[in-house]
Amino acid sequence: MPTRTAAPKSKTTEVRSERYRIRFDRRAQAALCAQIAGACRLVWNLLLADCERRYRLHKEYGKGTALEGAVPVDKSVSFFTLGKRFTDLRSRPDAAWVRAFLGSPWGRRYRAMELSWLGDLPYAPLRYTAKYLADAYTRFFEAWAAAKFQGQSLGVRKSDGKPKGFPKYKAKFDRDDGFTIPDGVRMDGDRLHIPKVGWVRLEGSGLYRGCKAKQVRIRKEGTEEHPKWYAYVFHEVPADRLKQPAWTGAVGVDRNVGQATDSEGEVYEVPDDPKLDANIKRKQRSAAKARARSKANGQPMSNRGRRICGQLKKRQRKKKRRRENANHQASRKLADTAHTVVLEDLNTKAMTRSAKGTVEEPGRNVKQKAGLNRGILNTGWGQLERNLDYKAGRVVNVDAAYTSQTCSACGHISKENRRTQATFKCEACGFKANADHNAALNILARGLALLPKARGNGASARREALGPCLLPLAMDKSTSPTREQGMPTAQGPPGSGAWSSM
Ligand SMILES: [Zn+2]
Repeated sequence: MPTRTAAPKSKTTEVRSERYRIRFDRRAQAALCAQIAGACRLVWNLLLADCERRYRLHKEYGKGTALEGAVPVDKSVSFFTLGKRFTDLRSRPDAAWVRAFLGSPWGRRYRAMELSWLGDLPYAPLRYTAKYLADAYTRFFEAWAAAKFQGQSLGVRKSDGKPKGFPKYKAKFDRDDGFTIPDGVRMDGDRLHIPKVGWVRLEGSGLYRGCKAKQVRIRKEGTEEHPKWYAYVFHEVPADRLKQPAWTGAVGVDRNVGQATDSEGEVYEVPDDPKLDANIKRKQRSAAKARARSKANGQPMSNRGRRICGQLKKRQRKKKRRRENANHQASRKLADTAHTVVLEDLNTKAMTRSAKGTVEEPGRNVKQKAGLNRGILNTGWGQLERNLDYKAGRVVNVDAAYTSQTCSACGHISKENRRTQATFKCEACGFKANADHNAALNILARGLALLPKARGNGASARREALGPCLLPLAMDKSTSPTREQGMPTAQGPPGSGAWSSM
């Protein structure tokens, strides 16, 4: 279960992650970390290949008849089972299934390999790979079941002919390497103990210094020549050390391609760097060429190709960091502005708004652009929502249909209200405003109409435990009359215009 939806055992602490740069004392430590990460990749690939072998046996011979020696083949892919298989692999390499696996076509790559060195590496991080694989299978099964429920299929992945979403084999230069210290984390000030590697120094803001560390993900980033190691530490932070959201108020947010506008008229820009984007495009083309070349002549990726892949990853990380930073700043500002944040449901939004309404240059390929918009909207703004889930007092989602065409003053709905992209002018009452601001006001009104029924999302429910001052607005009017000042009534019909948050 992802951390953000997991309910904390105690309401007095919450989990927060922080990223630290790792400074090694000795070069051998970095090499050992790389070895552990590589071993995790091997364990993942080997267990996945074995799962496929078991699935195939079951499909061919049916349940109960597919015997391995005298033992029926177990095709379970739970963490419990996969973890046991890893333990076999590490300490009982002569187990029946290991021998059967190595003898099968799926185990061909591993047959000549000496696997006893797995015993020299830390047990828990390697075994935890089985957890990630089990999770990947669970996600796949859920997606498969959901598609089946809707009478659809997942479709076939081009690269290997498997269904889309099926766990993938990990290649050496495909992704960032890493491993996880699942529990029993030892930290001492700014020093972290990595099993079998020893103590390393962590560099970071130290925001949660002294808080108990629950889990650490160690990751190698940067390029191949210049690797940088990071530790993502999940701290258990006492609630009184966390920044609290605003006590009162509500704000609506209209998210668009490139920027978001709240009902106070504040505009949040998505960082835009055309030079960086162009650079990424160029590197992507070169990387694709290098990949195609290596595939064509059956050779591993050339040194140049690997260098380009590293440069590409570096730039993509830069872009991601910028977007994340902007999202964090925007969500913090919103959480400071109001207790309740109303957002429109991005899926309904993308469906109800045509490409004409959201892209500045209408014309060709409106359908393609609609798909593109949906993509941009979702990738850019999903994170804002996740951040708000834990930063804001309460997050409310509303249907976004016609929010851009509705007058926030009188409720008149018409396409004609929106003659230009930027401005809104009501045909009925003459109300004039920035178009996004008007949409944000409509979103806020819809959210407030839902409030009495709306259940708190994320942090809100937990924060209710902190004291009467943080109770949901609609529920404690009697105890704190001041709360209502400047607050619109929750019962007001959407778009009634009887209130103003400005
Ligand atoms: Zn109007």
